[in-house]
Amino acid sequence: MIYKNFFSNILIHLILSYLIVFYAHANILVSIKPIGFIASAIADGIMPVDILVPNGASEHSYILRPSDEKKLQDTDLLIWNGPDAEPFMAKSVFNISSNKTIVLTDIKEIQKFFIPINSNNCKDNSKHVCKNNVDSSFNSKTYNIHFWTSPDVARNIAITIHKKLLQLMPQKKDKLNENLKQFELSLNNTDKKIMIELAPIRNKGYFVFHDAYVYFEKHYGLSSMGYFTKNPEIQPGLKHLYEIKKTIKENKVVCIFSEPQFKVSVIDSLIKGTKVNQGVLDPLGSNIKLSKDSYLTFLLQLSNQYQSCLKNKK
Ligand SMILES: [Zn+2]
Repeated sequence: MIYKNFFSNILIHLILSYLIVFYAHANILVSIKPIGFIASAIADGIMPVDILVPNGASEHSYILRPSDEKKLQDTDLLIWNGPDAEPFMAKSVFNISSNKTIVLTDIKEIQKFFIPINSNNCKDNSKHVCKNNVDSSFNSKTYNIHFWTSPDVARNIAITIHKKLLQLMPQKKDKLNENLKQFELSLNNTDKKIMIELAPIRNKGYFVFHDAYVYFEKHYGLSSMGYFTKNPEIQPGLKHLYEIKKTIKENKVVCIFSEPQFKVSVIDSLIKGTKVNQGVLDPLGSNIKLSKDSYLTFLLQLSNQYQSCLKNKK
């Protein structure tokens, strides 16, 4: 009996030591920062979150470094947007067990919100009528990939991460449930606040630098007149610039937004001598630190960035 107790004590001790070492090193790795904001809310007090694409870099043109490859192989849970939306990491993810990954573009509840590119249904944002029928796989040529700016999508991303972490760590159920509940509550309050804040500027026309905001714009009914480029690495064509210039001359444009990741001298020359304001929108929240509230800070920052350019007259 004494021996039996002795050995079972050792066994319990070994299991506990293993768990302590596991949790001390365990982490969640997320491809891009805004999705890391949501992961940080759900994993708060449970596991740290690390981001692959660093501040100042763009997910459209990122190239993995050897240290990124190591992060990918070492992580306990990888959250990313799949090989079509994030081709820069597709080859390296190939070896990682599907049990340790979440591919957000494969989740049905998230696919429901995808907005087609170049859809006539989506031109009039105020009508909220972007229909889509996403099949099994996501295609970035058909759908806009920047779905993280939608609060509805964010809620479903949070639910997906919560479900996966529950599977991986059932013993953390209470904390995980509490984190999800808190996130959903704060998200609803923030969403209502932004809806009120943006109401007075819903009809103000503007151009954005790249088409990273359609989910936010559709949700809040904003009136984008278009974008300079689909891929921020590629400069807009002359014909497209001429059309934007024509719209500016017709006095329909209040603001043109650039982005902190890209210096666009073409915007300076376009608005020179006009009454058009220049603002900045950051689709990745590069200045925001990861925390349980960082996704809400990100949405509020976008709202403030829209307001400060669209409210002010030059
Ligand atoms: Zn983008």
